[in-house]
Formats: sequence, C-alpha cells, structure tokens
Amino acid sequence: MSGTVRSVLALGSNLGESNDTLSLAVADIVDSPHVRLREVSPVVLSKAVGGPEQPDYLNMVIEIETDLGPYELLEHCQAVENKHHRVRTVRWGPRTLDIDIVTYGNLVSDDERLTLPHPRAAERAFVLQPWAWMDSSARLAGRPVTELAEQADDLSGLAPFEGV
Ligand code: AMP
Repeated sequence: MSGTVRSVLALGSNLGESNDTLSLAVADIVDSPHVRLREVSPVVLSKAVGGPEQPDYLNMVIEIETDLGPYELLEHCQAVENKHHRVRTVRWGPRTLDIDIVTYGNLVSDDERLTLPHPRAAERAFVLQPWAWMDSSARLAGRPVTELAEQADDLSGLAPFEGV
C-alpha cells in the first residue's frame, strides 16, 4: 500500500451474537489488501441511546491504515455491514451491524453521504471511551478524546464487556 491514511472506525451491534459479529466484522474489514489493522479497542456494553426500547449494544473502535479513498472506504464498510445484516436461520435470527467512519485522516467533509469527522462521535461515550482506552493520546476536533469521553452524557450507561 502506498499513500496510506489512518482512519478510526466505530462498530456497534445489538442483535444476535454481537460479540462474534464484531470480531467477524473486524476480520472482514481488514481482509482487504487495501486495509491494515493498527489498533483494536476493548469491547464495551452500552445502553441504547433514545429510540424504542431495545437490547444493549456492544461497541468497539478500531484504527486502520488504508489506501482506499474515503468513499471507497465507506463502500467497503457498507459491504461488510450488508454481509452481517443477512438473516441466516431462524435459530440465530437477524444480525445487525453498524460501522461508522469516525475519522479519515484529517479530512473534514459536510457531505451527508460521508460527514467527517462523524457528526455525533464527539458526544457519544460508546465511541469516545473505547477510543480513549485504545489510544490515550487521540484527539478529535482539536480536543483530547479522553476529555470528550468524560463529558459525554451516556458515559454512565457504559461498562467494559466481560464476555458471557
Ligand atoms: P446509519 O443508519 O447510522 O448507519 O447511517 C448510514 C448513512 O449515513 C449512510 O447513508 C452513509 O452514507 C451516511 N454517513 C454519513 N457520514 C457517515 C460516516 N462518517 N460514516 C458512515 N456513514 C456515514
């Protein structure tokens, strides 16, 4: 790979075997010859913010290095999402997976198809806290991610995931 960019991705799942889904999704993301895995955060258990009553989420972030352009990376992440959205058997039910591009290098974009940095990342503890654990020196929009995490409203609803 030449001309690479570092990118932080946030993954979340709240249906099916979420912990397995996250692991498989990370493997699928980095399966591309255009993507190299740099760092992986711990998995956190978080309460769903807003919306109808729904199961708790498992969330994590990863840092990758890629020579894909930003929209190519978005398409790659959406292909991985789609793969894990499929309904497999009644026994395992549907699987959900969301992948957000939190940052792509220092790129700033207000395109609604790809807004960078991700517009809600700076206030979501389920992105900020695992990111801070993964990389204590990380900054977002000029501020330390550790500090943003401490100030996030949903921090109290978050716990390290210990497995089942
Ligand atoms: P969601 O339903 O939250 O997964 O949102 C998916 C939509 O958000 C897609 O149509 C994307 O094109 C759009 N989108 C905008 N900015 C981003 C971003 N930074 N990362 C991922 N999807 C994004």
